[in-house]
Order: sequence, then structure tokens, then C-alpha cells
Amino acid sequence: MSQKCPACKSENIEFELGLKDYFLSQENFEIMVCRDCKVSFTYPFPHESEIHRYYSSDNYYSHSDDKNGLIPFLYRKVKSININTKYKQVTKGMVPGKLLDFGCGIGDFLAHAQSKGWSVHGIEPNEKAREIASDKLNNAILDNNGLNKFPDNHFDLITLFHVLEHVYSPDDLLSDLLRVLKPDGRLILALPNKNSFDAKFYKKFWAGWDVPRHLWHFNPESIDELLKKHQMEKFREVPMRWDAFYVSLLSEQYKKSTIPLANAFLRGLISNFKAGFSGQYSSLIYCFRFMKS
Ligand SMILES: [Zn+2]
Repeated sequence: MSQKCPACKSENIEFELGLKDYFLSQENFEIMVCRDCKVSFTYPFPHESEIHRYYSSDNYYSHSDDKNGLIPFLYRKVKSININTKYKQVTKGMVPGKLLDFGCGIGDFLAHAQSKGWSVHGIEPNEKAREIASDKLNNAILDNNGLNKFPDNHFDLITLFHVLEHVYSPDDLLSDLLRVLKPDGRLILALPNKNSFDAKFYKKFWAGWDVPRHLWHFNPESIDELLKKHQMEKFREVPMRWDAFYVSLLSEQYKKSTIPLANAFLRGLISNFKAGFSGQYSSLIYCFRFMKS
């Protein structure tokens, strides 16, 4: 095979799984894994000028506050409970300072942090989400080019909740983000974990693949490998237990299950129970800081 790993350019890559974009386009894709840098990636990558096509659904919940129906309702419930937990975990031991949420969506996490005294900034590529977030925070949310306007060593905390897997060049983005992070600052990455029980159970139906919107499919090993190149070390991993249920519910729908709720509840429980021993939760929040030289 003459293809190369889009991350490290190694030719040491293998086919992992064939699957579909069950969420929207129903187009076929593959998951490939790189034996050198350990990351899995979607093959082929849609061209950057085409990717918007795969987001053009009203059902992309993370950008919408007002959808009816059971799944959006559950999603919102879980999200509001999650935000407080997430906030406490990622800011543990910190005093409020300057926060950048990259890919802030409609700004719920930023709004929560703002209420706790943080000076907040957001970057969001989706125009509609950007408008909603700007109103909510009374603070202009920037588009992707906005990162350039911040001086070096500016932020105490930079968060990316389910964002890095959507980015064409994680290396370039990390370099840009780490420029604006203070030397003693924290970088937080929340990502689906392809090593989780629910990923292994649902296989091609696992909603965490979310191809081709997710270009990259990380696990704890590959994320460490990526961040090591940027002189970052992980100092904490935080489980996202609700994600096991939510991802299982979507996966059940992709499978066209007749009893999605009951099955998803059971699989979510098993996933969290197993992860209690292995650490391989459905999604994980990774906390990174600069290595001490
Ligand atoms: Zn590679």
C-alpha cells in the first residue's frame, strides 16, 4: 500500500475497520491505524473544501439548544449536569484566570466558567454557534483566525472538548495553541476513546467514530505520543461516564435496534464498570502541562 499516515507520514499503516457515515451522508469510509505514531485516522480524508457538507445537518446537536425529541432532550440534560463536573475537574487546584475554549460551540462551558470568575474567550468555526455564544457571554467569539490576535503566554487554561479529532492538522493547531498558553498553564483535551468497551462492542456502529467528521481516532497511548512531540506531559485523566450512555444510544440507533434505550443503558453500565478497572472509558479528558526541562 502506498498511502501514508497523514500525521507522521509513515507508510507503516494498516486497515482497521470499514464503516459508514451513519449519522448523515451514509457514505463509506475506512479506519486505518498507523503502527508508528499509533493514531487511527479516517480514510479517505474528505477534502477541506468539502467537509462542510458533512456538517450540514440540523441534527448536529452540539450547535443547537432548541431541538425537540427524546435524544436532544437527554443530550441537553446530560450536558448541563456534565458542565459543572467538567468545570470542577479541569480547574482543580486553579484560581480563576484567563480561559480559552477552542471549538466552544454555543458557549455553555464558557458561560459556566465566566460565572465562576474566569475571563473567557472562545473560538468557534460555525457561524451560527458563534452568534449564540457571543450573545450568551456578552463577549465576541472569534473564528479560527482569531487565535493570531492573542499575545504569547496569555492563557492559564485552554480547553478543547471533542475538537481535536475534527482538526486537519492537530500538530499545527497544538503549536498555535501552545504559543498562547502560559508556561505553567494547562491544556485540556476531551476525546472519544477507541479502546473503550463500547467501541469494541459496537465495532463499525460505534458512534464515537463519527466519520468523516472525526478525522482522527485517539486512545490514551496515541494522544500521549502526539503531545510528547510538543513537550507536554499528561498529569491527569478524567473519565466522562455519561458519554458511554450517550454514545451507546446513538450506536444503537445506527444499528437500528428495536430497544435502543434499554440496550444503551446496559452497554453504558458495562462500559463504565469495565473502565473502572482498565481506565478505558468511552471518552476521556486528558490534562496536560509542559514538561519540566
Ligand atoms: Zn503515523
